[in-house]
Amino acid sequence: MAEDPRDWELETQAVRGGLMRTEFGEISEALFLTQSFAYESAQSADDRFAGGPGFIYQRFGNPTTQMFEDRLALLEGAEQCKATASGMAAVQLSLMGLLRAGDHLVAGRALFGSCRWIISEWLPRFGVETTYVDATDLNAWKNAVRPNTKVFLVESPANPLLEVTDVAAVAEIAHAAGAKLVVDNVFATPIFQKPLKLGADIVVYSATKHIDGQGRVLGGAILGANELMTSAYKDMHRHTGPALSPFNAWVLLKGLETLELRVRRQTETAATLADAIAAHSHVKRAVYPGRADHPQAALVAKQMTGGGNVIAFDLGDRSAAWRFLDALEIVDISNNLGDAKSMATHPCTTTHRSMPEAERLEIGLTEGWVRMSVGLEGAADLTRDVTRALDRA
Ligand SMILES: *Cc1c(COP(=O)(O)O)cnc(C)c1O
Repeated sequence: MAEDPRDWELETQAVRGGLMRTEFGEISEALFLTQSFAYESAQSADDRFAGGPGFIYQRFGNPTTQMFEDRLALLEGAEQCKATASGMAAVQLSLMGLLRAGDHLVAGRALFGSCRWIISEWLPRFGVETTYVDATDLNAWKNAVRPNTKVFLVESPANPLLEVTDVAAVAEIAHAAGAKLVVDNVFATPIFQKPLKLGADIVVYSATKHIDGQGRVLGGAILGANELMTSAYKDMHRHTGPALSPFNAWVLLKGLETLELRVRRQTETAATLADAIAAHSHVKRAVYPGRADHPQAALVAKQMTGGGNVIAFDLGDRSAAWRFLDALEIVDISNNLGDAKSMATHPCTTTHRSMPEAERLEIGLTEGWVRMSVGLEGAADLTRDVTRALDRA
């Protein structure tokens, strides 16, 4: 084949990347629900165990899972992808593979709740200390570096208030300190932001979000260059058991085919809704990375090619936020995001309820904030539903 899939347009990669056909020539990718694989001979078993081509056991790899990994790696511009059973398995593995007892981690303080638990409660059991920083403050990253700093972790845009971090600048600070930068790219998706091109060493996803995009399965992925992926994660991934189920891999593989279409449509609708929300008299403040009034709009324009499908807005207090949620007729009250169905949540009492109040206030998360993930419904229907609920807030 003369075509190099790495040169294809993103749309082509999303539909054809990683495709492995059997002798039947199936158009839709095959689902290999098999735990193990038979070898033609004792010699061939020996060859595969010695590291030769071919599959051995589902925990190590599976053809359907590999198609998903290869397709996502192409979209991301990564040499290698390791799929995991959930986004949290990916985040946990991405850190554990790079850290040892006695090492130090620097992390942006606005993080998904379970990521904060891993860092605050889990890593210390293994002798890893963390300094949380305001991820938008480059001096804070510099000042947090210690001689034993090995990893920087950042989510950009961050959950739930959509702060944006200068990935290229933070990568430079990490590398000057001899540390690796891990970026959780869930909110941006591979469509709108390419952290590896900006200098990050590792990208992690919860594939549960936009990559599935239809609310069905959990999944995750770790991506990076071959050398680091192999040295940090290969054995760990095989032996600790976070493998993605081939069934879920198949669902996610098919999800990738429509990812670009879905995310672009969701983003168009989100831009319309964000304007309607920001203009409403009951809204104290609206944050959307695609709007000119985003606090880091210039940075968004530099490192992202779209604002994404999540909007955050402050209605002043908890009762107003709850009145808004309870008045919605089309949009669901739910804490997921990236789904075809629009959903809104009250972070203080759901996704961020385990975050101590002092830390919540540090990231500006007060009781009036609502986070909304815009789905694929019609923009006029969503605008009507949201506007009516805002009127009642
Ligand atoms: C959802 C999410 C995760 C965790 O993913 P799961 O698939 O739910 O385990 C991690 N990071 C971010 C930013 C998320 O939104």
